[in-house]
Amino acid sequence: MSISTSVLSDLLQSLPYLRPQLYFKASLTALSHAMEDQVLAATLDQPLVIASFQRERFYRQEAHRYQRLAQRSNQIYVLSAPETDFANSSEYYEKVAFEPEDALSQEWHLVVIADNYATCLVCRESLGSITKNRQVPEWLPSLDMDTGRRFEGIWTSERGVSIKAAQLLLDRILVYRPDLAQKVERACQRFGIGDSKIYSPPGVIAEYACDIDTDPFVQRLVTYLQASQYKLHKAYRSIAAQARKERLVNSISTAIRRSLDPHQVLQIAAQELGQHLGASRCLIYRAQASDAQATLEHEFLMPGVVSICGQNWELKNNPLFQAVVDHGEGVCVSDSLNDFRVTSSVTLSLIVKKFAVRSWLIEPVLFQGRLLGIVELHYCSLPPHQWQQGELDLVEAIATQIGAALIQAEAYANLEVLNQQLEALDRTRSNLIAITGHELRTPLSTIQVCLESLATEPDMPLELRQVMLNTALDDSERMRKLVQDFLTLSNLESGRVEWHPESLTLQECVDLALSRLKTRTTTEKPPQIKTQLAENLPLIRADGDWLVEVLAKLIDNACKFTPMQGLITISANQNSDRMVEVTVADTGRGIEPNRLEVVFDRFYQEEGALRRTAGGTGLGLAICRQIVNGWGGAIWADSNGKDQGSQFHFTVPIVQGSQEESRSKVKRRGSRD
Ligand code: ADP
Repeated sequence: MSISTSVLSDLLQSLPYLRPQLYFKASLTALSHAMEDQVLAATLDQPLVIASFQRERFYRQEAHRYQRLAQRSNQIYVLSAPETDFANSSEYYEKVAFEPEDALSQEWHLVVIADNYATCLVCRESLGSITKNRQVPEWLPSLDMDTGRRFEGIWTSERGVSIKAAQLLLDRILVYRPDLAQKVERACQRFGIGDSKIYSPPGVIAEYACDIDTDPFVQRLVTYLQASQYKLHKAYRSIAAQARKERLVNSISTAIRRSLDPHQVLQIAAQELGQHLGASRCLIYRAQASDAQATLEHEFLMPGVVSICGQNWELKNNPLFQAVVDHGEGVCVSDSLNDFRVTSSVTLSLIVKKFAVRSWLIEPVLFQGRLLGIVELHYCSLPPHQWQQGELDLVEAIATQIGAALIQAEAYANLEVLNQQLEALDRTRSNLIAITGHELRTPLSTIQVCLESLATEPDMPLELRQVMLNTALDDSERMRKLVQDFLTLSNLESGRVEWHPESLTLQECVDLALSRLKTRTTTEKPPQIKTQLAENLPLIRADGDWLVEVLAKLIDNACKFTPMQGLITISANQNSDRMVEVTVADTGRGIEPNRLEVVFDRFYQEEGALRRTAGGTGLGLAICRQIVNGWGGAIWADSNGKDQGSQFHFTVPIVQGSQEESRSKVKRRGSRD
């Protein structure tokens, strides 16, 4: 038993001059409360009140008001579609449960009729009023969708209209509650409901003048207006904050897009973020999970705040940093003087004291779970800063952007290194092609001629045979060396070499290099070699095998370019607190001043490869430079000019803080070439 006709339609049909208006739900709530207040104000004598709620849940919000209203009148009817326990009953007032399919479930009615007062609200919810409001963004907190629901209908204090509305609703009440016929009849008689004389067309003065105090009504409406205005204000503030946040994220993303220089991007990020959040300090620095310390690279400062840019920042004994690493998320401290994590740590207490950090936020910069850096915010003034969720979200968003920027810069830097390696490889390849013609073809054709002669002339005298064989063997040895040096150099240049740094004594490396020289120079007698290493040389840190290689090559060169009666001196001194300088000096043919640098070029040989007598590939010094650069040292040549002898110097880092006796770990294996 449900009724599909709308009370509003029925009313408009019987009073065609009425023009329905649009009302938002918030306005209807205000009007309804004002109308109810009028009854509660006790100025009306036993009025008739009919209220119809779309759903039980809407009624429940108002139930307590209706219990109070029931003390003012025994003619109160409340209609609603039941959901849980709403049912027909007559306890404090008359409850009328209508079918959920009844057109009433789309409508909102309130009618109040007294002897000298009448007002009514007859409305129907506009279809789609909720879906339209879905466009309101989710983050906008104050404009909830419900208050934006729309209704169309009539709100009036015209007695005739109110009486008609009461009649329509009472008719419907009797359908659901026929047991109320007598009570309804009493109300109709008292207020002349159903009596056509009562109805006064527009313009005709109502028979009952309204002399009611309307103050509560006005007050209620003003309160609602204020509340709505306040909500609107809040919503605008939230929109403005959101817009500022978007601008900030945008400006940092733009900086990232425009620049591949991470320094610039991080500086902009620190500046904008610090400024936006009004922080005393905003720090951004690079750090990995296992780092013991970090250098504070980027800083934003509020005027008057002490700068800590460039300082080393403790990470290892920093429980806040460790918490960030362990949980992979930011940590914030509202009041550092009352936070156990800070007060129980000596490191943090010192920082707090020294740099006046009162409120603290440490946010990780992560990329795929890997820690790349940290964003820190410090507030130094009182009262301590209360962190808002919005701020934390913002810092997290910025940290994500920074992560992307750092990865982008890292990828770009890797690309540059790869490019350089590719270029080096390409140069080496071109050089290889260039020397094949000379260096490789010459010995190869000699070998070929010798072997052909041996094969085709069986009558060749034995002595000549031996000469041919020796020549072929010499040239194949020269080719082997060339190929070996070439491979070593290209491995060094393309970074395909593994370094095994260890603590070494120089003496032991020199000894090894000299013993290698002796095994090679079996025929010619080398010039005299003297070793003059300073006493108490500290331990050095380098890859032992490669260090012996450098020494052997330099000594080898010195022997090649110095006559037998000359002198070769190997000396070493500590030249700074970080490096030992090793010198291999000879009294040989010397180097012209303008050649001191080019001798390190690949394939450089003063007399050109074809005319050379001393052997060698022209790659030795280039290999030495690659090796020395590999441990962060330098290598250079000195000479007073032709026949004035040469000195080759190179540096090796010292083992920091080590005074222990040397425990050389040089692998005693044969020479590399
Ligand atoms: P090479 O295999 O020709 O010795 P290096 O790269 O070792 O190749 O040396 C390049 C060139 O530098 C040599 O050919 C020579 O002209 C010059 N050079 C190297 N060491 C000395 C030295 N001790 N005295 C004079 N010239 C040298």
